[in-house]
Amino acid sequence: MMTTSLRLGDGIDDYCPRCKLLLNHAVASMVGGSVVKVVCQTCHSEHPYKNAEVPPKKKAGPKKTLLDQVLAKAAPAPEPVEEGSEPEETANSPKKKRAAAPARYISRHATRPRRGKA
Ligand SMILES: [Zn+2]
Repeated sequence: MMTTSLRLGDGIDDYCPRCKLLLNHAVASMVGGSVVKVVCQTCHSEHPYKNAEVPPKKKAGPKKTLLDQVLAKAAPAPEPVEEGSEPEETANSPKKKRAAAPARYISRHATRPRRGKA
């Protein structure tokens, strides 16, 4: 590629992982004529040069929880075969599900009075 003409401090476009945008950067470090590190001109954070490529988004959700990242690293193998009952539990918040379950249980009891003789 045409990276040999660049020098330290030159302006270069790159994706800033902090701003999450393709922004102006300055060359901060070079090895063998290729850019290694850049400094974002917007937030002034230094990060490895990413060849001005925007990383693909894996999920549509705005937030990726730390638990998801840990699970992705810890379990690169295909899904466990033994439990196929609740595959969505890790993706969404389990609290929501847990709160809904007892409510349904209680309402079912209320609609079905099982009292004996008075
Ligand atoms: Zn930035």
